Amino acid sequence: MFNIFGKKKQGENQATRKQEETPNWKKKINDLKESERIESELANKNAEKEKIETTKRENEAFVKRQQDEYNAKKLELGKKFQCHVCGIPAQKPTIRKEISGYESVGYGAPGSPIFCDETYWDLPSDLERCTICHEWTCEEDLYKGICQSCAEKL
Ligand SMILES: [Zn+2]
Ligand SMILES: [Zn+2]
Repeated sequence: MFNIFGKKKQGENQATRKQEETPNWKKKINDLKESERIESELANKNAEKEKIETTKRENEAFVKRQQDEYNAKKLELGKKFQCHVCGIPAQKPTIRKEISGYESVGYGAPGSPIFCDETYWDLPSDLERCTICHEWTCEEDLYKGICQSCAEKL
């Protein structure tokens, strides 16, 4: 009788203990884990942000490099080629569509050519050679293939 009562009481104790609130030491651990989780989440977010920023900076630097390169080449083109009548420097290179390769099996129609723009910095597209003196001439100073100077000597 006593034993049964004793067991019953023990069982009740266990039951009441389960319903008890989380003890403070466990709460402390929970808080610690939670703040650790928040911290690592924040660190991950910052790392992600940093990565995006870096990519953006790299892209901007790439675009700037391309522009600088283009401007340098344009300057070089202008130094090499000028209209022999008015002296205006060439500004535009010649761009031609060229075959850069052929489609391989599995992409588009196999064997069909792939075109890409090829830029020729040794050939201006905004100056033309006069058909008489063969000098580079701008659009303004060229008429029906003949430059102004040649026209004056006709
Ligand atoms: Zn000219
Ligand atoms: Zn001419």
